[in-house]
Amino acid sequence: MKVLIVGAGIAGLMTAYCLKQAGHDVTIIEKSPSLRTDGYVIDFFGSGYDAFEKMGLLEELDKIQIPIKTMRYENLDGKLRFTLDYNLMRKRLKNRLHSVLRSDLEKLLFEKIKNNVPIYFNCTVNAVIQTIDKVHVTLSDDKQESFDLLVGADGVHSGIRNMVFAQDDTCLEEMGYEVAAFLVKDNPVFCQKETVISINLPNKTIITFPMDKETYAAFFMWKVDTKLKKTDNLNVLLNQIFAGYHERLDSIFTHAIPSSYYHDALLQVKLPTWSQGRIVLVGDSCQAVSLLAGQGASMAVAGAYCLVEALKQYPISSALLNYENRVKPNIDEIQHIAWRMAKWFIPASATGLIIRDTLTRILMTPFIFPLFKNYFVSKSIISPK
Ligand SMILES: Cc1cc2nc3c(=O)[nH]c(=O)nc-3n(C[C@H](O)[C@H](O)[C@H](O)COP(=O)(O)OP(=O)(O)OC[C@H]3O[C@@H](n4cnc5c(N)ncnc54)[C@H](O)[C@@H]3O)c2cc1C
Repeated sequence: MKVLIVGAGIAGLMTAYCLKQAGHDVTIIEKSPSLRTDGYVIDFFGSGYDAFEKMGLLEELDKIQIPIKTMRYENLDGKLRFTLDYNLMRKRLKNRLHSVLRSDLEKLLFEKIKNNVPIYFNCTVNAVIQTIDKVHVTLSDDKQESFDLLVGADGVHSGIRNMVFAQDDTCLEEMGYEVAAFLVKDNPVFCQKETVISINLPNKTIITFPMDKETYAAFFMWKVDTKLKKTDNLNVLLNQIFAGYHERLDSIFTHAIPSSYYHDALLQVKLPTWSQGRIVLVGDSCQAVSLLAGQGASMAVAGAYCLVEALKQYPISSALLNYENRVKPNIDEIQHIAWRMAKWFIPASATGLIIRDTLTRILMTPFIFPLFKNYFVSKSIISPK
């Protein structure tokens, strides 16, 4: 089967890897000039982890793991509120949890396919027409080509979704929060070895992940405030929201690496159907759950795996339905989890923060966690090996 994948993110690259392993003829187009480098760390567990195991990728995943031992909850001035043992959290998930840089996960998958899947950067789709047995595509360089299947893996702001399925205003749900993330260099305050640091203010959260002795990844989440001056400049925006609380916090901005900037609203995608004819969506383009669920990348990987498994067993139209029926109910559940996690990650008041902290410590105890696990983590849709 000749397949075009639009988007070289985690979903697109995993789809390409699985399709290639199944013997298909795959091409990827990506609108950016290269793989993206925006800097944030993700926790990778659950269905995606299980799909990686099935595809024999766990050894490579181990190599890009960022070692984290402690999660330290601090006040603005660095005073400790409490710590969580990260290894204990990992143990609670049977050691099937890895923290990795999103761009490293993309690179891992890219390395697996780069020699046998052509990837065209700076390229996108301008027009799509379907006939009974083909999808005819006009690319941004005016080239026209026909495929048996088109996979839209172009993220939460998907162009393929807009062209073929639904406009943003009918399927993008704003959660009322925004996120910014970037890498920070030469700022030892937050470069604590193997330690994630979390600082909360009402409606605002800052988390830092250590990368090496000099570099860490920082991400900021905040509740949207309509009173703030609108601006497209991330520095100006973050200054309005976070500057002036404490010099420690201000120091993050002065050491930020601008080329790694990421900024977006927290969004969920809710689409009635994930395929039309020979066009199908994977990853955030059809199933974005938002970072609050902590499973977007994992589910992008799992969705890609399930799509290709279905294509191995059924003709295209039944395969696309089978894929959707297997993955979508789980996504609905994870989207609910994300709404719950909003209050957990970004408490609205000082009292909410104290309650959250107390509950967090109780929940992490060995006998309590199993009782509430499903409240935070969805069941895997991939059966274990
Ligand atoms: C700060 C932060 C923390 C997160 N933490 C976690 C976590 O802990 N665990 C977890 O599992 N997930 C997490 N996520 C979510 C996760 O990163 C995403 O769900 C996942 O990366 C989605 O992958 P994707 O390939 O579907 O989309 P994307 O990563 O958005 O990739 C889409 C690709 O398509 C390309 N593209 C877009 N439009 C076009 C077009 N028109 N033509 C061609 N190419 C196009 C883009 O350039 C991009 O390369 C987090 C997200 C953020 C922002």
